[in-house]
Amino acid sequence: MNEKGGISVQTEHIFPIIKRWLYSDKEIFLRELVSNASDAVTKLRHLIAVGTAEHQDENFRIDVVLDPEAKTISVTDNGIGMTEDEIRQYINQIALSGALDFIQKYENASTDGIIGHFGLGFYSAFMVADKVEIQTKSYQNNSAPVHWQCTEEGEFEISDGCRTEKGTQVILHVNEDEAEFLKPDKLSAILEKYCSFLAVPVFFSVREEVKEGEEPKQPRQINENAPLWMKAPSECTEEEYKEFYKKVFHDYKEPLFYIHLNADYPLNFKGILYFPKLGNEYENLEGEVKLYYNRVFVADNIKEVIPEYLLMLKGVLDCPELPLNVSRSYLQNSGYVSKISTHIVKKVCDKLTGLYRTEPETYKGFWEDIKIFVEYGCMKDEKFFDRMKEAILFKTVNDEYLTLEQYKQTAKGDKVFYTSNPTQQAIYVEMFRKQQIPVIVLDKMIDSQFISVLEMHEKDLHFLRVDAPTEEINNGEGTENEELQALFVQASGKDSLKVRLAQMKDDSVPAILNITEQSRRMAEMMELYGMRGQTAPLEEVLVLNAAHPLIDKLQNPETTSDTKIAVAGQIYMLALLSQRQLNGEELKQFLNSTCRLMEQL
Ligand code: ADP
Repeated sequence: MNEKGGISVQTEHIFPIIKRWLYSDKEIFLRELVSNASDAVTKLRHLIAVGTAEHQDENFRIDVVLDPEAKTISVTDNGIGMTEDEIRQYINQIALSGALDFIQKYENASTDGIIGHFGLGFYSAFMVADKVEIQTKSYQNNSAPVHWQCTEEGEFEISDGCRTEKGTQVILHVNEDEAEFLKPDKLSAILEKYCSFLAVPVFFSVREEVKEGEEPKQPRQINENAPLWMKAPSECTEEEYKEFYKKVFHDYKEPLFYIHLNADYPLNFKGILYFPKLGNEYENLEGEVKLYYNRVFVADNIKEVIPEYLLMLKGVLDCPELPLNVSRSYLQNSGYVSKISTHIVKKVCDKLTGLYRTEPETYKGFWEDIKIFVEYGCMKDEKFFDRMKEAILFKTVNDEYLTLEQYKQTAKGDKVFYTSNPTQQAIYVEMFRKQQIPVIVLDKMIDSQFISVLEMHEKDLHFLRVDAPTEEINNGEGTENEELQALFVQASGKDSLKVRLAQMKDDSVPAILNITEQSRRMAEMMELYGMRGQTAPLEEVLVLNAAHPLIDKLQNPETTSDTKIAVAGQIYMLALLSQRQLNGEELKQFLNSTCRLMEQL
């Protein structure tokens, strides 16, 4: 037998297209071929199990052999094999039309990174090869071995094969431009990336000349790791989860905890999600969620499959129900994908809230590490917020952790007082401490956005920074006082300064500077967007403490006006100093005026 022919008229352009297809994803050709080999073994195993194929004591395996000299890569399995008819049907027709469909559908979407991760199938071999051969022999008794070969021009040839054992060998004659794939390190790294968890043992070797007296190197097994996600959660030990984490994510720190996902019909996917230990806050928060398709690696961090905020975690997801050819728009609109996503979010929330209920102390210990994840999740996804609400914690200045409900009970109201810098704002924090009102610490970038989202969800809730005007401290709004107003404007040199006299609850401080929450937030937001100073000025009020002896002194007719100005100036500076850092000019002024005051003593 010897037959030649072109694959089909409309296919003459397919090879050049495959060649330049998704340049960055070229390496997936190996995944496709090894997956096919693994499928071939699985099929034979199945036939043996149902009694259609003879049972032999099989050592099923896949061998990937690199021959740098001959410039070939071969993938060999001892699976089901193919007869000549099957080659015609599966390789010449089905595989080709599959590849054609794939390309026709996505040719114009080559910037769309996702599709490259899913199957282009057998013909992806032509991304790196200019000629591909198959030597195959079907498992069926007495079947004849077949040889198939095809060049990049699309010319195929079927002839008698030379294989003596059942199974298939695919040989790629690597194109000169793709010589990088002839490097052993490159090839073994690709195999490790995609095939570490395959069900059939995969071996890698490099064909070398063996010197006399030397033993040839044994092929190295790539996939020694059993994919832990396939095991039932009840059969996995704590140690196994940690080991698996370290191996897969190369993270020397242990994870905080993990969630083993095991969704049956109809979702049918498995996986393990780990909460990484963050270490310091500046560390990169990007996690890594690896997507697998039947134990074959597909891609990292596909945010169409799981919500973006979950990508801060590290984990593996095996979704055998995902269709092979997917586009980004498919994933975005797929009911199945959105169900997976909902399921994962529910499991994550159940785990966190469950931990909070049963082991609150452990949960509090984890909080600083998971806080940013939870906050980000609440901001991105209202459902996540609804589920997590009861287990969102706030750290107080005394290092206690309170939920919103607990805070409200202690503070007896819907106002939540916070500090963005406990040291800088110590004077204010102290006033709250004396009133036994807890103050929480919100000192991260994300916090200001997070509280706005909380306020949006919970209409009665108000977050107020400790330097915002509030009756808890000021005992009402206070009154205007023309004389003091004029005095402080003169002493501070600020015409716009607003002054009020209040019966403050704390009599230890002569004055505090209050800034309304709203105007401060607005200014912060503008600053964040690089638009500093483009809003209305901060609504600042200097609140004088009517109960303080220095304020008494200012109102005493016996005090000279020079003293009044000097004292008022100092009071203003002290209030400023308690609220924020002084700028250079202010600091100079303050040091000078303090010296002058002391000279008069
Ligand atoms: P898919 O694997 O998605 O079906 P492919 O283009 O990769 O598409 O392969 C087409 C068909 O060729 C397979 O379905 C299978 O029947 C056959 N085939 C490919 N590789 C092998 C192999 N190593 N052993 C047996 N059959 C194979």
